[in-house]
Amino acid sequence: MIKPHTVFGTSATLITLACSFAVNAAPSKADDLLNATLWMQNSVEYKANVRGMYALAQMRLDEALKDKNWTALPTMQKSGFGMLPPAIIVDCDETMLDNNVYEAYLIKSGQGYSSKTWSQYVQDKVTEAMPGAVDFAKYAASKGVKIFYITNRKKESEQATLDNMKALGFPMDSQVDVLLTKGEKKEWTSDKATRDQYVANHYRVVLMLGDNLGDFTSPAGSPAQRLTTYQTNMAHWGKDWIMLPNPEYGSFESATFGNDYSLSPEKRRELKISALKAWEPKK
Ligand SMILES: [Mg+2]
Repeated sequence: MIKPHTVFGTSATLITLACSFAVNAAPSKADDLLNATLWMQNSVEYKANVRGMYALAQMRLDEALKDKNWTALPTMQKSGFGMLPPAIIVDCDETMLDNNVYEAYLIKSGQGYSSKTWSQYVQDKVTEAMPGAVDFAKYAASKGVKIFYITNRKKESEQATLDNMKALGFPMDSQVDVLLTKGEKKEWTSDKATRDQYVANHYRVVLMLGDNLGDFTSPAGSPAQRLTTYQTNMAHWGKDWIMLPNPEYGSFESATFGNDYSLSPEKRRELKISALKAWEPKK
């Protein structure tokens, strides 16, 4: 909002107000990604928030390593899991990896997400690390904790992602496949549960980090189902499940239009707005 500067006198104030009105009267074309991407790419508030989450994760990791009964996946671990070596499961995009240059490309070129441009972007290996992510991953590795990166990047993108992450300094085990991509095995679908179970069969999973509900549980569906899932798992949040903020995209958005990307952008926008609970001024 443009604030009038009364120090310059009444006429200047009126001119300023007039300009302000003119700006408001002719809104620019809306882009639903703009504020979220500006915040995630340019703000110190986002960087500080993410660093805070990684600091919390490190404290929780220290706690977890002292307690053999601690697990982030109590429904998946088998009896005697306390004897298994510790591991962490992390998501990649917008959890360990920062793709804001891709989102900015979409805004600047006036496009929506497409698997074609996304695949090109991944093959370019220009993805950056989230603030604090490499240090956290190195800390975990230094404590003998295996880090499994469970991503819905496709198996065709695995090598480029691996090269990119190695170059960023993430610990990538050379003996064990720790980058588990979608479709790498037949049963590894976009629902991450089968990959979580695969890790839980051999490790005590002490922490999970993600930016989307689906990084922690099977996809929940509608906004109401998502809320129930969130409430059912209340004891995990901030303890052994660490959620990072992502206002750009995710199931929070797609749930409002029934996860139906065949709908036009205008229709999806309409449904998102109708999902909002709004104040109504008293007459
Ligand atoms: Mg993600």
